[in-house]
Parts: sequence; structure tokens; C-alpha cells
Amino acid sequence: MKLILLGAPGSGKGTQAAYISEKYDLPHISTGEIFRENIKEMTPLGVKVKAVMDTGNLCPDDLTVELVKERLSKPDCKNGYLLDGFPRNIYQASALDEIDAPDKVINLDIDLSKIEHRITGRRSCAKCNGSYHVDFIGNVNTCPNCGSELTIRKDDTVEVVKERLAVYEVQTAPLIDYYKAQGKLVNVDGDKSIKEVFDEIVKVLG
Ligand code: AMP
Repeated sequence: MKLILLGAPGSGKGTQAAYISEKYDLPHISTGEIFRENIKEMTPLGVKVKAVMDTGNLCPDDLTVELVKERLSKPDCKNGYLLDGFPRNIYQASALDEIDAPDKVINLDIDLSKIEHRITGRRSCAKCNGSYHVDFIGNVNTCPNCGSELTIRKDDTVEVVKERLAVYEVQTAPLIDYYKAQGKLVNVDGDKSIKEVFDEIVKVLG
């Protein structure tokens, strides 16, 4: 199964991807995560994308497509993939259609007016990649999953969130119609609880 998780920043793609990846045994490929790892390790790629990521804008298309193409060529993608955060625009989507087209696209549909709250309350674990919201875990500093320190992503600030949302609306939202036209889009209400959203995804995946 070749799957894409589509949705605005903060729609819960990362959280749902972790569950889907485990249940369906699909490699979870998050381009944002790959970029963050490279920044942490200060690789040449990380150095190249850091400034643009800090502003909330998209990393260069060619570089991102190349990265995904290489990742999809790995043996663990032989039986499918779960893409989270890619494609982010029509250019990337048509490039993916050439490389290895998806079977289904799940769009996590959320109330965009709640995004700022969803993102600025987010706490992330750099060790296990867990992502939580202070509404649910309170103001704790340690990861409920692995006990490591929780941090706030550098691009999870109010100003950067505004830019990320603008980028989403202009560049990424048109993908909804793109995949609808291909008959691959499934809408899931992302404003429900984590469990309810996951149950709905399982239902549509069959
Ligand atoms: P995410 O973790 O998906 O929220 O992505 C965080 C940031 O990584 C984005 O705001 C972009 O700067 C960059 N990024 C992630 N995925 C892509 C992509 N497919 N194309 C371009 N930039 C991306």
C-alpha cells in the first residue's frame, strides 16, 4: 500500500503516521523529520535547509524530490510507503507520480482557526520523535514515552506558524483537488480525538 498523509501543519499527520506505520507495517517517511535530523547532525543538507526551515517556507523542490526518490528506492519501500509531509505542492506531486505514484491519499481535515493553538502547545521529543500537546500532558519537561527532554520545535512559534499556514494554503491545499481528480483522496475529520481519527483511517483503509 502506497499512502500519503495530507493535512495542514499541526493536523496530526506525524501522530497518525506512527500508528498507521505500525499497524500496516509501512515505512513512515517524514521529509520534515529527515530535514530536522540533518540539521541536528549538521550535514551539508542540514546546513543548506536550516535557514529556510526556520522561516516556515519550503525547502527547494529539486532537493526534496531527490531525497524522497532515494528514500523510496530503499528495500523497505518494496511493499509500499507512508509519506508524511510530502508532497507539499503540485510540482512535488507530479514528480512523485513519475517516481512511484500513491494508491491513496488521506486528508486530515481540521479547523484551520485552531492551528495556532495546536502548534504552539506542541512539545516534541528529539529522541523518540514523540509529539504531544500541553493540553493533554500538562507543563511537563520529559517525554511520556521515553523520559527524554521535551523541546519546542524551532518552527513552532506564532510567527513561523503564520507563515507555514500561508504556505499550506497557497501551495499544499491545491493537492486536495489534485488527488480528488485522480480518485485517490479520502477525507478524514482530524478534529476528533487521536483514537477516533485513527479508527476512521483504519475504516477507510479496510
Ligand atoms: P513538517 O515536519 O512536515 O512540518 O516540515 C517542517 C518543515 O520542513 C517545513 O516547514 C519545510 O520547511 C520543510 N519541509 C518538510 N517537508 C517538505 C517538503 N515536502 N518540501 C519542502 N519543504 C519541506
